[in-house]
Amino acid sequence: MESVLADLGGIAAFVRPGDKVLLKPNLLKAAGPSEAVVTHPALVEAVASMVIDAGGSVFIGDSPPLGNLARVLAKSGYDPFMKRLGLTPAPFLEKLRVEFPEGRLFRCMDLSREIFEFDTVINLAKLKTHTQMVLTLAVKNLFGSVIGTDKASWHMRAGRDFDTFATALVQIYDKIRPALSIVDGILAMEGNGPNSGDPRPVGIIGASTDAVALDAVICALLGFDTDVLRTCVIAHEHGIGMADFAHIRVVGDELHGFPLRDFKLPKSVTVTWNFSHWNPIRRFMENHVITKPRIDSAECLNCGICASHCPPGAISEEDGAMVIDRKKCISCFCCHELCSNRAVRIVQPFFGKFLSLISR
Ligand code: SF4
Ligand code: SF4
Repeated sequence: MESVLADLGGIAAFVRPGDKVLLKPNLLKAAGPSEAVVTHPALVEAVASMVIDAGGSVFIGDSPPLGNLARVLAKSGYDPFMKRLGLTPAPFLEKLRVEFPEGRLFRCMDLSREIFEFDTVINLAKLKTHTQMVLTLAVKNLFGSVIGTDKASWHMRAGRDFDTFATALVQIYDKIRPALSIVDGILAMEGNGPNSGDPRPVGIIGASTDAVALDAVICALLGFDTDVLRTCVIAHEHGIGMADFAHIRVVGDELHGFPLRDFKLPKSVTVTWNFSHWNPIRRFMENHVITKPRIDSAECLNCGICASHCPPGAISEEDGAMVIDRKKCISCFCCHELCSNRAVRIVQPFFGKFLSLISR
């Protein structure tokens, strides 16, 4: 980790003696490091040790959508090093109404009060695919500052307009502005992430004071135009962070084998199109293009978690099986993200597959 931060001035550029420092990993759910769901505990431990050496006190915070923070930390391999280093969990529990007087899409949001109570926030994201936002990197990681079920209400407000959701993510980033963002891409996730994709050793760690620039560079290393990341496009439009490669300086070890040629994005990428409100086109898109979730009853345990987190209430139990009302579904893929049994499939209609192929 020290060599990663050396070009940014080392940890001392971000932490002063006596600072209270919040580390914000991706703690989506309780999952062992080999699943590539959470930020690897070894990376978090390394950053925590550097902060302590610089004289800071370390807290680890998030608001996991499934399970409380203590359980997720314990089951994800964080407890041993947290005990060893004497670190304190900082669950996000209280809401703070945050204003955006500069008048972007949203004028106010409820975020975690706790995240604003530290001297420094260090954002420790995981490199993963994301069925809705294509990739989850540094900017998206701060959505964890939206507490519990409020996350679903943001999906509902955005509906199928993923640019609206991306704008919310960019505004959250702009308000929190972590001093430093680090993306853990040693063991990344490809395919249908962020919960049940496939672990993929990519072997990179990226760090920057600018999460937008960091996301843009990682996107390029994976072999994709920055345009696939709507957060980068929208941040650029609003003058938040830097997504223009002409103004991004990349330093560090020389990388071999990049950009990757075969990194697999989620099947759902075509759904990011904003489609017409004209009914015939809309119907055609819904039936033949838009990627949808489907519950595999052979794998489903009827636990009801997907139904209780579905923003429009599109999932219900009928005759003992969980079913999705396709008319209500907004393709947010929260059900896919939260099902621990891999029972939610991503189904891409023929034209959707075709469009995915020709748009690559
Ligand atoms: S699909 Fe998954 S989350 Fe939904 S009820 Fe079945 S097992 Fe539970
Ligand atoms: S069924 Fe799944 S994808 Fe559709 S709205 Fe509900 S949670 Fe989102």
